[in-house]
Amino acid sequence: MGHVLEGDRRSFSIADIFGEDVFSDRVMQERLPKSVYKELRQTIDEGKELGPVIAEVVAEAMKDWAVEKGATHYTHWFQPLTGITAEKHDAFLSPVQKDGKVLMEFSGKELIKSEPDASSFPSGGIRSTFEARGYTAWDCTSPAFVRRDAAGAILCIPTAFCAYTGEALDMKTPLLRSVEALNREALRLIRLFGNKHSKRVMPYVGAEQEYFLVDREKFLKRKDLIYTGHTLFGAMPPKGQELDDQYFGAIRERVESFMRTVNEELWKLGVSAKTQHNEAAPGQHELAPIYKDCNVAADHDQLIMETLKKVAERQGLTCLLHEKPFAGVNGSGKHNNWSLVTDDGINLLDPGLTPHDNVQFLMILTCILRAVDLHADLLRESAANVGNDHRLGANEAPPAIISVFLGEQLQDVLSQLISTGIATSSKQGELLDTGVSTLPDLMKDATDRNRTSPFAFTGNKFEFRMLGASSSIAAPNIVLNTIAAEAFADTADRLEGAEDFEMAVHDLIKEYANEHQRIVFNGNGYSEEWVKEAGRRGLPNFSSMVDAIPSLSSEKSVQLFKRFNIFSAAELQSRSEIKYEEYAKEINIETRTMVDMASKSIIPSCFKYLRELAETVNALEAAGADASAAREILTEVNSLTSESQKALKQLMKDSEEALSIKEVKKRAHYCRDRLTVDMENLRNPIDRLEMIVDKEDWPMPSYGDLLFEV
Ligand code: ADP
Ligand code: MG
Repeated sequence: MGHVLEGDRRSFSIADIFGEDVFSDRVMQERLPKSVYKELRQTIDEGKELGPVIAEVVAEAMKDWAVEKGATHYTHWFQPLTGITAEKHDAFLSPVQKDGKVLMEFSGKELIKSEPDASSFPSGGIRSTFEARGYTAWDCTSPAFVRRDAAGAILCIPTAFCAYTGEALDMKTPLLRSVEALNREALRLIRLFGNKHSKRVMPYVGAEQEYFLVDREKFLKRKDLIYTGHTLFGAMPPKGQELDDQYFGAIRERVESFMRTVNEELWKLGVSAKTQHNEAAPGQHELAPIYKDCNVAADHDQLIMETLKKVAERQGLTCLLHEKPFAGVNGSGKHNNWSLVTDDGINLLDPGLTPHDNVQFLMILTCILRAVDLHADLLRESAANVGNDHRLGANEAPPAIISVFLGEQLQDVLSQLISTGIATSSKQGELLDTGVSTLPDLMKDATDRNRTSPFAFTGNKFEFRMLGASSSIAAPNIVLNTIAAEAFADTADRLEGAEDFEMAVHDLIKEYANEHQRIVFNGNGYSEEWVKEAGRRGLPNFSSMVDAIPSLSSEKSVQLFKRFNIFSAAELQSRSEIKYEEYAKEINIETRTMVDMASKSIIPSCFKYLRELAETVNALEAAGADASAAREILTEVNSLTSESQKALKQLMKDSEEALSIKEVKKRAHYCRDRLTVDMENLRNPIDRLEMIVDKEDWPMPSYGDLLFEV
């Protein structure tokens, strides 16, 4: 394994390298004239418009800083609706001067605005190719950074991406809109509770990222991994994850070396990668950063995914971010930890030691219950992608049903509220007796964890656990911020008009707790009973992405997003079109990959093995020996190969049919109803063949090779 950085025992201090490639607040303070810095800060903190004169000065300083860092190019770094980031590099060059020299130039105009030829990014019909104008605009609330890779050092400027006509063509624009709406409505609410000092309320997010690492050489031998990011065939190895010996297990040297480099690079980019451990499945790991404001967290989440992939490649590994790389072992998700924090450091989701006393907390908590109950469908939709269809409800991730876990302490407070209208006590954490005198006594939390809940209250934040590993965290946070803003706005409307504020708060908490208690579930979310119970409660259960998409453009959703200026009806319509298209296209790529693998390598390998078997049978019979075992295998392989061939034909026929369906929603449904079934039917006999055919003849690395030989 020549790629491992053997003996890389360099030590460095995190403090020395942290944020070294970021045009951070400190750098701005150092390099900008005081008055310019002050104005820029006001733009960042208070959303004040940024003037062209200021932009010019900032651009100059940013360029000088980046050039000192070795940057030759800059790019507007944006997040179109492909779910990943996009960039177009421009060198810091001006036209050649008379003396033949070049100047390094970068103007305020170039900082603020750029116009990438946008015609090839998905827009869901908002913008046809002949009106291809799209603009990227500097988001000064997320710091610029210098990224180093094979292309050299590049100044990356986080930007939003909009159409000529003003519609958002990206994830950042609506995310920023939702942050503003939430800030506005949350401030209204806390003012009513007497908070006059906080100037802002920001959603804070920490997104835990799961991923798999496989050996790159083996990866390159599997077309399914190359084209789709997950395996479309593959029999289970003798050992899976049943021993649970991987979870939190000691990390192997090769993986350690990988994590070390990932951390180092992320720290330089100002991403506070904090926790790393092995996950449940063999070959699976997790990385968690310290939480940040939602917008920066979303950018950092993209940087984390990019860095994992790039570092892996450099070290002879491949990082798989797909939600279900291997059937039969756990897939990968992303946990979106979300809280609401004021600029002066108050976490509005912190219940304090006696939550029953904390009226503001109870008001906010019940607002969130209301928000989640009213818009469970939207939250579910925000976590929908093709890969996640394999995980949700498959006993390894929460079901596709949204519910809220409150835990014992809050549930108890809520029950008191519902039954008597007032809560008079809070269950307290107890001392945990370890039974060993030399170990310290620990204070237990008042509430245990529940890992099966899709939306769990975990102390002072909510953890939304439905997201797929590969997806951007923007969509779920747009929904979370907006539905919370709506609940706060409705509540503030009612409280502002109340004659007796305290009475009105009390009534409203009770009302919300009563009306929305159906969304609370503290039991085992993986159980069959819960699916039935949720059905009785009338909670939505969309097992597939294609069933979830309509929530995005329902009348309720249009009203919600319009009210807070997050999305227009046209933007929502276009986003659902894009999602249907994404579904159909991805399934289509998967079917073509399966067809390619089955017809060009797997079935021919089976024939080769059949010929060897036939020769063996003949040889045994010629020698007068018993050929029954060889004959038995021959018959079985032959029959499974025929079954595969038949299934392959069906898949080919149906995927042709899919392509002929013009309407994208119909096509997506056809893909889900027919193609995924056909794919299963082809996979089954082939996975059984893999267990029988000589390993020498099998045309690709097995699950065992991929999962256990990293
Ligand atoms: P786990 O869920 O794996 O047990 P933790 O509860 O320690 O781990 O936190 C996981 C993630 O939650 C981290 O990314 C962390 O930054 C984030 N987090 C912790 N507190 C908050 C908070 N108040 N708001 C948002 N995210 C938070
Ligand atoms: Mg977690």
